[in-house]
Amino acid sequence: MASLARIGLAYVRARRSRRWTRERIAAGQRQGVLQAVGVRDDGRSLQAILDGLSVTDAGALRRGFAEHNAIGITLAEAHLLAEQEKAGTYRDRRGLSFGLSSGTEGPPGVFITSPAERARYIGTILGKLLAPSQLPGCRVALLLRHDNRLYSDASRTRLVRVRHFDIAVPIAAWVDRLIDYAPAVLIGPASILAALARSDAFERRPLRPRLLLAGAEPLYPSVATYLTEAYATVPRAIYQASEGFIAVACAAGSLHVNEDVLVAEWQRLGADPWRALPVITDFSRTTQRVRRTRLSDVVKLAPVPCPCGSHHTALAAVEGRLGDILYGGGEAGEPRFVFPFVLDAALSGIMGCGNDWQIRQPARDVIEVATARVPSAAEKSRLSAALHQIGGWPAPCWGPLAPRRPEDKVRRFVRLVDPSSEIILGRLLPPSL
Ligand SMILES: [Zn+2]
Repeated sequence: MASLARIGLAYVRARRSRRWTRERIAAGQRQGVLQAVGVRDDGRSLQAILDGLSVTDAGALRRGFAEHNAIGITLAEAHLLAEQEKAGTYRDRRGLSFGLSSGTEGPPGVFITSPAERARYIGTILGKLLAPSQLPGCRVALLLRHDNRLYSDASRTRLVRVRHFDIAVPIAAWVDRLIDYAPAVLIGPASILAALARSDAFERRPLRPRLLLAGAEPLYPSVATYLTEAYATVPRAIYQASEGFIAVACAAGSLHVNEDVLVAEWQRLGADPWRALPVITDFSRTTQRVRRTRLSDVVKLAPVPCPCGSHHTALAAVEGRLGDILYGGGEAGEPRFVFPFVLDAALSGIMGCGNDWQIRQPARDVIEVATARVPSAAEKSRLSAALHQIGGWPAPCWGPLAPRRPEDKVRRFVRLVDPSSEIILGRLLPPSL
């Protein structure tokens, strides 16, 4: 089937899936998983079928990379091909594409896609975001570290135009081109969107996209407020990993899980009913198998049905990686988890939007605060009091924020103690739908 037809089909399906009932979503997931896993339908529930598969994590997926892809390629080989594809020196006869994903921890992951999978991905993402009337000639700008055929193939539909801007080089090198392009849809990491808004070029000629999408990093509420003012539109979060296109925010702000293409189970963090790690089974991909893979992102589940009317599971936020959760003082020496959005809400008002900052925790009772601008004595005192109240920590150590390379992912909170997050993993409940 020609890719344009595939994109069209996926687009129509994604549009329709927004109105699916919960029963329709669950039936589609069960059928999808049965087909993907290749087991006979013996009437078991989806949870029972999933429980028959073992849970792996992203690290295991990397180590056993060759067993989890249909072409038996190793991670080192896939990396090489991804680098060649990036340099434009590689073309696979089967149309396979090797894309690098920007990992926060460790080297970038590689996702392998067939032409059919790319077509379905493009149709799905367009269907989730744009009505048919918004499609023709729509200019999309992608601010990405690694371009990928996953995205550039979208241009070939001739319905939308997609341009990639390489954020591994400083903003000044591409900001004028971006502003001339005047995209209707702008997609990038929140920190880059914020840095872009602070540039002189943007201040002279601000961008006014119809749709502003923030991915690859947590979209902190304080940053979302800043972006809303700068771009005159509310940014919507998009949650994507090499394990799949997991969720995208609706106009009401909830991230709806793409349950038309995957199943997400949740491993809740002990007694906290709302914080969980996703366990993903993607039944739409065949080139790379994602079966009950636990991601190391912590999400906050949304407690109420979303006002937009969608029955797809809603997340209030993707708060960050496991390593972004700090350890506060708790009872009997057990740490209390202090979540990134809780800290950001308490601290960003004190630090202000104009000051870039980072908090690191090298030991349980040591907090380091690094800032781009030296804070006033009053700011320091308020911040110390807030940190003590939230985490029970003593007064922090202060220092300057190290200059960032453009290719570095921005992390606002960095826990260095318990680097493999053993304490958090030890408190996870079994996965459940
Ligand atoms: Zn919604």
